[in-house]
Amino acid sequence: MTDNQSRSLYERALSVLPGGVNSSVRAIRPYPFFVERGDGAHVIDADGNRYIDYVMGYGPLLLGHDLPESVMAGIQQRASEGPMYGAPTEVEVELAEFVARHVPSVEMIRFVNSGTEATVSAVRLARGYTGRDKIVIMEGSYHGAQESTLVEGSGSDTHPSSPGIPETFAEHTLTVPFNDEQAVHEVFAEHGDDIAAVLTEPILGNYGIVHPVDGYHETLREVTDEHGSLLIFDEVITGFRVGGLQCAQGKFGVTPDVTTFGKIIGGGFPVGAIGGRTEIIEEFTPSGDVFQSGTFSGHPVTMAAGLETLRYAAENDVYDHVNGLGEQLRAGLTDIIADHAPNYTVVGTDSMFKVVFTREGPSDRSNHCESGCQQNSECSRYDYCPKNGADIKRADTERWERLFWPAMKDEGIFLTANQFESQFVSDAHTEEDIEETLEAYKRQL
Ligand SMILES: *Cc1c(COP(=O)(O)O)cnc(C)c1O
Repeated sequence: MTDNQSRSLYERALSVLPGGVNSSVRAIRPYPFFVERGDGAHVIDADGNRYIDYVMGYGPLLLGHDLPESVMAGIQQRASEGPMYGAPTEVEVELAEFVARHVPSVEMIRFVNSGTEATVSAVRLARGYTGRDKIVIMEGSYHGAQESTLVEGSGSDTHPSSPGIPETFAEHTLTVPFNDEQAVHEVFAEHGDDIAAVLTEPILGNYGIVHPVDGYHETLREVTDEHGSLLIFDEVITGFRVGGLQCAQGKFGVTPDVTTFGKIIGGGFPVGAIGGRTEIIEEFTPSGDVFQSGTFSGHPVTMAAGLETLRYAAENDVYDHVNGLGEQLRAGLTDIIADHAPNYTVVGTDSMFKVVFTREGPSDRSNHCESGCQQNSECSRYDYCPKNGADIKRADTERWERLFWPAMKDEGIFLTANQFESQFVSDAHTEEDIEETLEAYKRQL
């Protein structure tokens, strides 16, 4: 496998782009491969190397790289009619209607341009709606590159996790470990009257893949209701990925007040959205007072790509296909680790998967989840399965990133760049791709 072209492109990039990239996760060591094009479930790099792709743009590409004709036609028509106008278009209404029809929590929605913008706006909305300042997030969670959630520390002892954010900003952000009901009760006992919202992913998808324990989301729902706080589900990854068109909230049967979207909802183009009950979402300007605005928001090309992608998924067996392959992959990985790496944990659900390099656990696998950890309390490994961000961080993350990732790349398998980010199966993957991938895992684990 040669990489001369990627290497020389990276050399040029280092002179004009900080770290040679436009998003920090792409700065794989010693240097990333540059992609020339996608092909179905594969990407081909600048040196002509071909990889089975499980990064899928870090989540947006539900259908893989070759868009179905209806999606392509929608995008091309909008682009050829002039890309955008600064006036509303029908396609925005159609996508909003589609989301409101399928997602339990959504009556009304505001489209923006990134997941980051969605969570920024959702937090502002929750503060404006409740008249309170504090938000509760999960330790080690990721909600985009935004001031309120880039914090480290626990409870009310939080600090900005990046230079450039005033220390005082973090005073308004409280953190609790995911899956810890006691911690949520405690933080509300102390700060309940000041808490505008609890913001969480339904499944942690940026810090390993951590499934909720039974009853956790129900507890968040009850506690927030009791204290007049909002429950915000960040479904930027899980939206239209987990639970199909009803999203993870439908799968888990817990309805948040506000939901943030991104990734898949834009069909591969820059997007974000904030949905929820009418009385809450109408607090946004111009119907309400919480300022929200954007030149590119509801961009016609993006709206067409998102709408046609979701329509295609609704009218074809996309979720059956990707979830079936996800299951096949996780079940195969579970068998492989039993033989090759009994301490490791296979995680994920639907079309999300990862092998977490957990360091310990009993070799007895009675009652274990057969295709990805679902926090089954009857499982002999229950106490050793990652329950929160700290558990993922204690895994062998260096081995994953420095040894395992490059070895899989040499096998022609493109995984997300570190132990923390989720991986995705797309509609373009085939059973043969999965079998080839399992063989590579078998050799490298
Ligand atoms: C990707 C992601 C974001 C940020 O979205 P961007 O489009 O990268 O700004 C926010 N929340 C979650 C859960 C994400 O996975």
